[in-house]
This record gives sequence, structure tokens and C-alpha cells, in this order.
Amino acid sequence: MLKKLLVIGALSACAFAQITVTTTIYPLYSVVKEVGGKSVKLNNLIPFGVEPHDFEPTAKSMAMLSKSDLFITSGDVMEPWSAKIINSLKIKDKTVDMSKSVKLLTHKEFKGGKVYDPHYWLSFDNYILMIKETAALLSKKDPANAKVYSSNAEAYLKKVTALQAEYQALKNCKNKKVVVNHKAFGYLANDYGITQYSISGMTPESKPSARQIAQLIEIVKKEKINTVFFEEFASDKVAKTIAKEANAKTDALRPVENITNEENSKNIGYIEIMSTNLEKLKGAMDCK
Ligand SMILES: [Zn+2]
Repeated sequence: MLKKLLVIGALSACAFAQITVTTTIYPLYSVVKEVGGKSVKLNNLIPFGVEPHDFEPTAKSMAMLSKSDLFITSGDVMEPWSAKIINSLKIKDKTVDMSKSVKLLTHKEFKGGKVYDPHYWLSFDNYILMIKETAALLSKKDPANAKVYSSNAEAYLKKVTALQAEYQALKNCKNKKVVVNHKAFGYLANDYGITQYSISGMTPESKPSARQIAQLIEIVKKEKINTVFFEEFASDKVAKTIAKEANAKTDALRPVENITNEENSKNIGYIEIMSTNLEKLKGAMDCK
């Protein structure tokens, strides 16, 4: 009897064997959640509902990281704090920088020269590369479940490419100029020939001057822009001021940098948010 119990114990331990993965920001989390499924125990360092640009890691996140088999970062532009942690925890060999697997756009935004735009998940081509890279990474760490990861990746890729096909509608719009909260939509703008005007810079914390606000009001009037977009997890005050002065409306357009706790519990994620973004963009850009 004891022997039988031990055998069952060993079997169930095997069936529930999981690798532990920690990601930094939600877009990375969304990919590992879909590709890893039940075979991966997944943590995200930045809590749901928090704007990620001003995140600082805590002692709790350090503990979480030291127990992980794999740490996936989005790169040092979004996470300048990561190098220090990787060094102090000595986890360089299990850290992967996802920015190395996508096609980056560069910007002259920051002092000190050219830096890439960190919002690369807003290009579907890049999001697809992230899915493929994640499937390869998980399969390498956990070869026993390689088939599971590749079939999960295939299923998710189907959903993503279907939504990407819907986004082609943005190529036939009358007004291809949008005003957004922070400069997060460069990849999307690049893919669909859209001009992005932003209220703040590469991060939502950088505040526009009175002169910049006045210029944006003029642009909205002159270009007959009907919507000024704000975003969740940042103030909508300036967007409202511009919209009021230029007789436009405001609406939310989300850079998918994070989701709320409630959305996570309802399984609302990248696909659902990008799908809502498409409808908002179609309205703002006067699409056929
Ligand atoms: Zn951002």
C-alpha cells in the first residue's frame, strides 16, 4: 500500500511539474501566459494596475526573481533598474532581453543620443516574434513540454494574426493623424502610416509646457482631429483641456503597458484591448 502511494505521489508530482518564469511588464506576461499555459508558474514583477515607466523593484520582487527558472525583461529602456538586480542576484544566465528578438525603431527623444522606442509590442509583427521566441525559450528550459508550448503558440498566433488582418482597415482612413497621451504608439503609427502627436514624451511622467499644449490645440483644430486620446494609469487632465479648447472629444487609447486586476481576473488581455483600440482608432481616423 505504501509503495502504491509513493508511485502515485511520484506520478502526480511529475504531472504538476512546472517551470517558474518571471516577466517584467504585462506585454511579456501576456505572451508567456498564453504560450506557457498550465506548464508554467508565471509571475509579473510590475503589479496589475500600475503604470510601468516609473516602477522600482521591491524586496518581494527580488525574492520572486531568485526563485525563477527564467527571467524575461523588455530591455533596458523600459527597465533601467534591471541590470543592477541581475548582477546582484547573479541571474544573468537565466535572463533574456526580449528587445533582442524584435525589430526596434529608434528615436532621438533622450539626451545622450539615439535610443530605441521601448513600446515594440504595439507592432503585431513584433508581438508575433515575441510569441515565437517565448515558445523557443520555454521549450529549451522544459523540453518535456515542448509540444505543449508549440501548440499553445500556434493557437495564440492564429488569434493575433486574425486581429492583425482586421487592422489593415487602418490603411483606408481619411484622417491619419492621432493625438495620444504619451509617445507609445510609434510602432503602430509606423505600420499603418499614421502620424502620432503626443501630449507627453516617451513616458507619461514628462509633462508638456503651456506652449506645447497651445501647439497641440492648434494641430487638433487645423487637422480636424475629432478625438484626443488619454490612457489608463495616467492623468487625463491635459487631454481634456486640449479637447475642450479644440472642440474635440476625449477617449481612452491603451498602450497595453498594463491591465487592471479586474481585467486579469476576467481574462481580458492584449487581444481584447488591441481590438477595442482598433474600434477607437477607426472612429478617430474616419475610416471606411
Ligand atoms: Zn510607455
